[in-house]
Amino acid sequence: MRAESQGLVFGPVRSGRLGASLGLDLLGAKICTFDCLYCEAGATRALTAARRPYVPAARLLGELAAWLFEPHPPFEVVTLGGMGEPTLNTDMGQIIEGVRELCPGTPVAVLTNSSLMADPDVRRDLCLADMVLPSMDSLMPSEFLQVNRPLPGASLMDIRRGLLTFRRQFAGKLFLEVLLLAGMNDSSENLARLEAFTAELAPDRVDVTTMSRPGAYPQALPASPATLARFREALCGEARPLAAGPEKSAQFAPPLDNEGSRRLEALGMRVLDSLARRPQTASSLASALGAGEADLANLLDDLSARGLVKAVTLGGETFFSRVGR
Ligand code: SF4
Repeated sequence: MRAESQGLVFGPVRSGRLGASLGLDLLGAKICTFDCLYCEAGATRALTAARRPYVPAARLLGELAAWLFEPHPPFEVVTLGGMGEPTLNTDMGQIIEGVRELCPGTPVAVLTNSSLMADPDVRRDLCLADMVLPSMDSLMPSEFLQVNRPLPGASLMDIRRGLLTFRRQFAGKLFLEVLLLAGMNDSSENLARLEAFTAELAPDRVDVTTMSRPGAYPQALPASPATLARFREALCGEARPLAAGPEKSAQFAPPLDNEGSRRLEALGMRVLDSLARRPQTASSLASALGAGEADLANLLDDLSARGLVKAVTLGGETFFSRVGR
């Protein structure tokens, strides 16, 4: 049983916000309108607002069809995201419609940094989804620039207006995410602005999170539990499950047989591919790849010794990432 593809289809991963989520990468590379300090996919290589079919619908849907054809773990939602901002892909609407045909009855979610919400074409395509998870980390212009590092000329005002317009157009579920960094966007001024904004936006849910994996830049540090509690109390209303912990992959796949060196080598390639997407702990990697933890530990030691992987500690946990990602 295959638990993770090496291409544009990845997971399923156990997401605190969505459940067992099968991911689709609409960019195929780190292409984004932002270069967030905390980005777990590494620094943005192509900072752009140019919308293009970066991954054409036919290619992505073909990969998904092939993935579905083989035995695979169950999943609860298909999530459009990837290594950058998925709304940059002009084929997004076609992709959502194609996923509906291939996975009837499974909800489709889209992750977005909200930067293109002012574009009516983007809003029209997003309206095809069942769930949209936009992020808004700060309504203070200085904090927005510092944390999200947008393209020059990006307008917080346009993003704010675009989100409010989208809320009126969209019949699905809107889950707003606010990610806090220590000393960066955890100010009282930001909290007051976010409080007023969420009252106006009326999302179905607000998720206040912080980094749970090493980010793209070393100055990004997780917000404290007290800060998270303060923001959650003001923005989230009633108590709800938090999404700040490391994601855990769905544990449906049996352990691989790692006896043969060829299989081990193949597993090594999958580990490198997975770590190129985001840093992960040994146990989350083992779970995602359906591999035994002892095998993974040995493999990670070997890859570290060869300079292909590096270990970083965050919040008492050791994360591995691909060198040069
Ligand atoms: S966190 Fe999201 S919005 Fe920020 S740089 Fe990474 S992919 Fe882009």
